[in-house]
Amino acid sequence: MALIVQKYGGTSVGNPDRIKNVARRVARCRAEGDQVVVVVSAMSGVTDGLIKLAKEISPQPSERELDMLLSTGEQTTIALTAMALHSLEVPAVSLTGAQAGIVTDGVHSKAKIRNISPDRIHEFLQEGNVVIVAGFQGQTDEGHITTLGRGGSDLTAIALAAALGADLCQIYTDVDGVYTADPRVVKSARKLNEVAYDEMLELASLGAKVMQSRSVEFAKKFGVVFEVRSSLNDNPGTIVKEETESMENVVIRGVTLDKNQAKVTLAAVPDHPGAASKIFKSLAAINVNVDMIVQTSSHGAGVKTTDISFTLDKPDLPKALKKLESLKAEIGFAEILADEGIGKLSMVGVGMRSHSGVAAKMFDTLASNEINIDMISTSEIKISVVIELSRGEDAMRVVHDAFLGA
Ligand code: ASP
Ligand code: MG
Repeated sequence: MALIVQKYGGTSVGNPDRIKNVARRVARCRAEGDQVVVVVSAMSGVTDGLIKLAKEISPQPSERELDMLLSTGEQTTIALTAMALHSLEVPAVSLTGAQAGIVTDGVHSKAKIRNISPDRIHEFLQEGNVVIVAGFQGQTDEGHITTLGRGGSDLTAIALAAALGADLCQIYTDVDGVYTADPRVVKSARKLNEVAYDEMLELASLGAKVMQSRSVEFAKKFGVVFEVRSSLNDNPGTIVKEETESMENVVIRGVTLDKNQAKVTLAAVPDHPGAASKIFKSLAAINVNVDMIVQTSSHGAGVKTTDISFTLDKPDLPKALKKLESLKAEIGFAEILADEGIGKLSMVGVGMRSHSGVAAKMFDTLASNEINIDMISTSEIKISVVIELSRGEDAMRVVHDAFLGA
């Protein structure tokens, strides 16, 4: 008998038929003799709807009350899923995050899990129940309800799998697994059988949007092996696990395109110690997340100046520009330029560590397709370039096919 944690995301529980479908899948699993803990998200669109509702009452709702409100989305799904299992004559009990023993810190809207006391879950399992836990939520020591950040049901599932010592953790979604590229854009994209945690982390944070990055970090830290697969068919999914030697034989695991970045250039920044520090400290202070940074080497006679370019999340652009404008005189740069028409194309793969010429081949592929590179950044397992947004999807296709085959 195995203990299995299954997480079903918003689209997998998006309407009553989908919830019945989940119940059938869970029932099948249990009929094979396994113990099943099910983690569910809110039905798709529900969390966004609740946030909208709150904003109609107050432009800046209290964070405690917002968490109280948002936690009801998942609470609806657990009850409905339990009812669907009861209709199939499967004993099932639903538990809120708090009832399931999930204790968090007090940072509303992005709480961290402190510990999980799984006694209650074990008791219900032992009595023969399927246990259905509300994802994305927990409770502080003082009894306040918290949420774990958008997409946080993934984290609930991974953390429960770790705390329960589960034999298997499955993340069910509406795609068959992790692909070499977005299959809607790249016709030749393929599903991957396995991915290393570090690759998955890069893919998740680069906008492949399969999973919440925090939950992948957690899985890596606690060595939770999990599978991403579809709730709509029986195809095997993608296994996410520790890197193995054979993974390095493949140079590139996947290619992603982030269309949600903007670029800012500060022209003629005086080249002396403290300028960059002042710029990026002030952006950090207003929670602007800066990604790539490029500084040109100093030029000009007399006072030396440099240009500093960086990318940030597009929605943060207005507040960043306002802040930078207010620093213009103090720091003494000449001009601020902003460009929203960019895309960040990235290639990810642990195989880059042991293969050379990867960047050169990427640049060459872009050049022969007349795609201009604006910025470049590299890490051990990733190469990213900023290009014109209008060529983004073309770039993704040609780079994918050059490395991963058409
Ligand atoms: N319902 C939450 C959200 O939409 C959590 C989740 O779906 O994982 O972000
Ligand atoms: Mg979700």
